[in-house]
Amino acid sequence: MIALGRPLLADPDWPLKARQNRAEDIRPCISCCQGCVGNIEKGRPITCMSNPQLGRENELPISQPQAARKKKVLIVGAGPAGLEAAHGAAVRGHNVIIWEKNPTVGGKLQLAATPPGKQEFTELLDYMERAARKQGVKIVIGKKADVTAIKRFGPDVVVLATGSRPVLPAQLKSGQGASFIPATEVIDGNKPIGPTVAIVGGGMVGLETAKMLSSQGHAVTVFEMLDDIGTDMPAITRIPLLLELKEQGVKLLPRTTVRELSAEGVSWEHERTHGVLKVDTIILATGEKPDDGLQRELEGVVVQVYLVGDCKRPGDMPAAIADAYSVGLEI
Ligand code: SF4
Repeated sequence: MIALGRPLLADPDWPLKARQNRAEDIRPCISCCQGCVGNIEKGRPITCMSNPQLGRENELPISQPQAARKKKVLIVGAGPAGLEAAHGAAVRGHNVIIWEKNPTVGGKLQLAATPPGKQEFTELLDYMERAARKQGVKIVIGKKADVTAIKRFGPDVVVLATGSRPVLPAQLKSGQGASFIPATEVIDGNKPIGPTVAIVGGGMVGLETAKMLSSQGHAVTVFEMLDDIGTDMPAITRIPLLLELKEQGVKLLPRTTVRELSAEGVSWEHERTHGVLKVDTIILATGEKPDDGLQRELEGVVVQVYLVGDCKRPGDMPAAIADAYSVGLEI
């Protein structure tokens, strides 16, 4: 006897696909708890990172209807939202191509799979890429999209899934000689990091970065202006992560606002005290803004332009994938 819990939320057809020996077609549960347990904790209906139909059965058709007119659809960006929109549009019969400027697919989903203990996220990325390709989606990597190239290609529809960029919060001054690295660039492992590190922002991204760096031997301090740490995470994943960080000696400082970055380190305020922490590397995990510049440039060039994922509204990945699924149905 095999008992399944969350995997049936991610894919209700799990038993059928298993019986048909189609393991590669099973949408995987990646144990993220962001859509299911996370929403139960907030008193909201459950959703699922892997299954954008879950919790929306009353508003979505059971199977995707074929499009009345086949269109040439260009998706810019092969992150999770781009792959989902591409798959949905291809299922409905459109001719779909993805241009990805990076040498690999995955975007934020690939980054999310990088910190220790998050490797299951790779299973979802592999599934999404495989599912899109199976539906005939062509994926071109290392291809940058600009207006000239898009005009030359001549699509009927463009879906921008170009992600987001880090943003410096308004209350944070960057002094002379200050330098910092966005957390996303740290996670992909291409930046040199000093022995002592300050992470500004104690949400999920900041904490995952802290875990990764402290397990590599860096001394890490996390500053968070809110009353608590990791408030954007479900308790089921937040509590074990906080315990691990404590064991690894990471300093977590809630209710502590970083006011200024300098060449020496960070100036902080906590209630009526303040000080400067000297560190070798400052990392920002303080939020992102949409990377949507191409939308304005495409006005009057392409009639139908959609924005999906972080490029529409930076936020949580289950919402980005669900939104992209809806766009796939709408094209
Ligand atoms: S939200 Fe995450 S943990 Fe929950 S069922 Fe979906 S993939 Fe699994």
